[in-house]
Amino acid sequence: MTTLAAVLCPPGPPEPGWLTLEGGIITDMGRGAVERGPGVLDLGEAIVVPGFLDLQVNGVGDVDFADEDEDAWQRARTALMRGGTTAFCPTLVTAPLDAYEPMLDRVAAARVAGGKGAEVMGVHLEGPFLGGAPGAHPVELLRPADPAWLGRLLDARPGQIALMTLAPEADPGLVAIRALAARGVVVALGHSTASDAEARAAADAGASVVTHLFNGMGPFHHRAPGLVGAALTDPRLTPTVIADLVHVHPAALRLAIAAKHAVGLVSDAVAVDAGTVGAVGVSGRGDAPRLPDGTLVGSTVTLGGAVRNVVNLGFPLERAIEMATTVPAGILGRHDRGRLWPGSRADLVALDAVSLQVRAVWIGGDLVHGDLASA
Ligand code: ZN
Repeated sequence: MTTLAAVLCPPGPPEPGWLTLEGGIITDMGRGAVERGPGVLDLGEAIVVPGFLDLQVNGVGDVDFADEDEDAWQRARTALMRGGTTAFCPTLVTAPLDAYEPMLDRVAAARVAGGKGAEVMGVHLEGPFLGGAPGAHPVELLRPADPAWLGRLLDARPGQIALMTLAPEADPGLVAIRALAARGVVVALGHSTASDAEARAAADAGASVVTHLFNGMGPFHHRAPGLVGAALTDPRLTPTVIADLVHVHPAALRLAIAAKHAVGLVSDAVAVDAGTVGAVGVSGRGDAPRLPDGTLVGSTVTLGGAVRNVVNLGFPLERAIEMATTVPAGILGRHDRGRLWPGSRADLVALDAVSLQVRAVWIGGDLVHGDLASA
């Protein structure tokens, strides 16, 4: 049993308090000072927050989740963990239908592997059932939704697919959206030129997320608000955003965060050092990874960096933290994660009080990263 004394956030603004960790979960907590003694780790001014949960990560560093072995996964999990991400949904972009089985086999092996690092959660399939705004997804591999293929995939791999991004216009009759939602897969709308009405019909059918709001969708127009308008005004749809300040202008980010109580942060990180995202080559560097024609291909932002960007836009720290923790946990229906609360998993991050850089990380109550000597 360990008790951490620190500044805690969220729920509510940063405030001194304490957390007791036992058996991998938070068993007790309170506000105010705690008496020092054996088993009490005083982190001083450091701010302890829930571990970040990233719903969209294609790869990290030199590790592309589409084609890597176990050692590479371990490197990626360690790198994510050092950035404060304690769990993530590995994301597979559009590929030929017969390429998914081997990729999912590798993810499944990584999920059960031991070792310290961010936990591998369910897979996020982004594509291949995308529509009119494919972005960097190879258009020759896009296809209409295939409910029979999906059904076989889900039958063969219960619980492995957590999230699927598809475009309503690629799903005639919204058959796939209904089937996925009925089977507990979170349906996200994205890479789509759906109208506001089409997006709302997709929400009627069970869609609940809009993937990387503003990117990979038609622009907002006041007489044709499209998927952006639906995402910002339909309470059933939770948008995610890539807050690297390259993918979305700060004013548009402010608009989204002001419009919606729940907005999730995703990194959409790619293996920029590997030079690939699935079948797509990444050749650009600089502000963000790009195709040779300038099309953005994911990002290199960490969720911790995205949190700092949101704070620098003027939003309260607790709001920014919720966007990287409580909101994504809610999207996945995982209420044992993403909040500091008795019964929650003891996946925690200690942030420097001034720089908000990651100082230490706990996963399942174990300190897995950080130097607390100077805390
Ligand atoms: Zn995308």
